[in-house]
Formats: sequence, C-alpha cells, structure tokens
Amino acid sequence: MTKGRPLPETRTTAPRSAPRVAVFGLGGTIAMTSTPGGGVAPALSADQVVAAVPGLAESGITVEVEDFRRVPGASLSFDDLAELTNAIHTRLAAGANGIVITQGTDTIEETAYLLDLAHTRPEPVVVTGAMRNPTLAGADGPANLLAAIHTAASQDTHGLGALVVFADEIHAAARVRKTHSTSTSTLVSPNGGPLGYIVEGRPRILNRPTGRTTIPITTEPRLVEVGLVTMVLGDTGMFLRAATSCDGLVVAGFGVGHVPDRVVDILTDLAAAMPVVLASRTGAGSVLAHTYAFPGSESDLLDRGLISAGFLDPLKARILLHRLLANGHDQASIRATFARAGGYTHTTPETGRADLLTQGSARA
Ligand code: ASP
Repeated sequence: MTKGRPLPETRTTAPRSAPRVAVFGLGGTIAMTSTPGGGVAPALSADQVVAAVPGLAESGITVEVEDFRRVPGASLSFDDLAELTNAIHTRLAAGANGIVITQGTDTIEETAYLLDLAHTRPEPVVVTGAMRNPTLAGADGPANLLAAIHTAASQDTHGLGALVVFADEIHAAARVRKTHSTSTSTLVSPNGGPLGYIVEGRPRILNRPTGRTTIPITTEPRLVEVGLVTMVLGDTGMFLRAATSCDGLVVAGFGVGHVPDRVVDILTDLAAAMPVVLASRTGAGSVLAHTYAFPGSESDLLDRGLISAGFLDPLKARILLHRLLANGHDQASIRATFARAGGYTHTTPETGRADLLTQGSARA
C-alpha cells in the first residue's frame, strides 16, 4: 500500500460495462440428447446448451446466443464456415467483445484453423465442445463452455486469433489436434503445447505464438477440391493416381516426409500439374528439408517441386491449401505462405526447400 493523499472519488471514465460474448451453437456432442431409437444426436438449441452452464449468471458476462447449426461435426462444410465467418464479423462489428463457437470435436481442429485464417480482428474467437454428451455422468460440455466464455470475454486473449478451449487448456487453432477418440483430454498441441490455462475462471496465457497467418475469404471464393492422401506400408500409388482431378493435394508422408520410391514418378507428375504439399503423418514435429537423400526422401520430393508443410499437420495443411486455392493464389504465393505458416520463413528459390524459422507476424 502506498501512503499519501487519498485518491479523488471522481471517475474519469464510465464504469466498464459487462463484457459481451456471442455464442454460436453448431451442434456436436455438447448439443446432443437421446433419440427414441437409442443413441444421441444433435437436438439441443444453443440456448439450451448455454442454459445448462452453472455459474454463468454470476460471471458478469452478457451472453448473446445464436442457434447457427445443429449438426454433427462431421457434417460441417466449407460453406457453413464461410457463413459463420461473416456472422462472427457482424457480431464483433456490433460491439461483442468476443465469440464462442460450440461444435463437434470431430472436426474442431479443421474448423478452428479455417476461422483463424479468416480472423483479422483482435477479439478472441474461441471454439469448444464436449466429449461426454449431456446425458452422461460427468458431461464436460458445461465446464468447457464456461471456460470458453471466460476466455472470449478476457482482454488477455486479444490478438491470439482463433483458440480452442477444452479441459481448462487454451490452444492455438493452428496447432491443436484431436488425439483420442473418447478422452476428455483429447485436444492437445503437440508442437509447442497449449498457450495457457483457465485458472479459477481466468485465462492465463503463458506462451504467445511468434506469428499468425491470416487469409480473409475473398468475396467470390473458387470452388476447389483439395485431396489428402496418407502414405501406407506397401503403397502402390493407387490413391495418388485417383487424385489427378484435384486442384491441390496434401501428401501425409512417413516420418520426416518420405514416400515409397515406386510412387515418386506419380508425385512428380502431380506436382507439375497442381500444388502438392508434403506433410508428416506422425502428428507432431516438422517435415525436414535436407537430411535424407534417397528416392522418395524429403529432399528428393522437395527437389521435385513438392511444397513443405513445415510444422503444419496434414489436416491443417489441407485447410491452408484449400483457402489459398479458393482465393486464387498462384504457386509462388502458396509456397511462400506455407513457408511462413509452417513455421519457416525462407524458401531457397533453387530448391524450394524451407530454411528454419525466423519469422515475425505473417499476413498473406
Ligand atoms: N464426437 C463428436 C463431438 O465431440 C461428434 C461430433 O463431432 O459432432 O461432438
């Protein structure tokens, strides 16, 4: 305590009004209830989902609710997400301090990254859901939603883009992955860990990413098809050959970015016809650039024109490639954007290989 003259009683600013958070319900397990034939399906309205949250009335946060979709995560589409992006923008422009999305966890790592790419404003967009539906003991939806609302209402999460809040952890949309089919701790960030935690109802940010890539949706996005083919033992290239009608392709290679030598020629032809991004199927770590030197190694594939996904996992890489192609970016721009978004800043023109990160803020 500092001794001295008492502070004057007069207020120089108006009292801070209650933070306003807009909650969009999209469905998912958090909004599911029993069906007459057994099992659960998304049926609860966003109002019902919010009404089930204990402690919200005492939080001092004003919550506005929008029943946006009632579908399982698997049925969400790029069109749904484009419409949601517009609706988010409208709410923020009207004065909301933050946004919460409730949805199925099955696609949360993809949708959150799509929202993150489009989000150029400082207010947080927080995505959450549940692993245990509301009919089960220990349903995790209410706790996750309350934590998400606290995170969205906080000034401390400004500038972090889209976040996924789950099991009291705060994850960057660009890093989070669903790693378990049933665990309530399914969402993890293998590269770098969570950005922070919810402690006693407050978001505590411990790590801030060094940069974000944002690519707002163009007014007239192109309809594009981006494939994802995972390399498997004994791969004969059958699924790669089937990808010729795609506009772009992500290959989830073995380890640091390897494929069997027998598919190298197919990939070379594909990379001449469309952007082909090389990611790792391992789920953590980065594709390498110049360590292995056999046919089908990462250095061989990058020399043949494939684009490194860096630290982006195959699902994130597909989302980024989809946005870039839908927005009409050319090969050079796609390559440069992947170098930044993948955690690498510099791509050597001769080889197309990415050299390790020194990036700052990245806006494509
Ligand atoms: N298991 C999923 C969920 O967490 C189902 C879905 O994605 O809708 O919501």
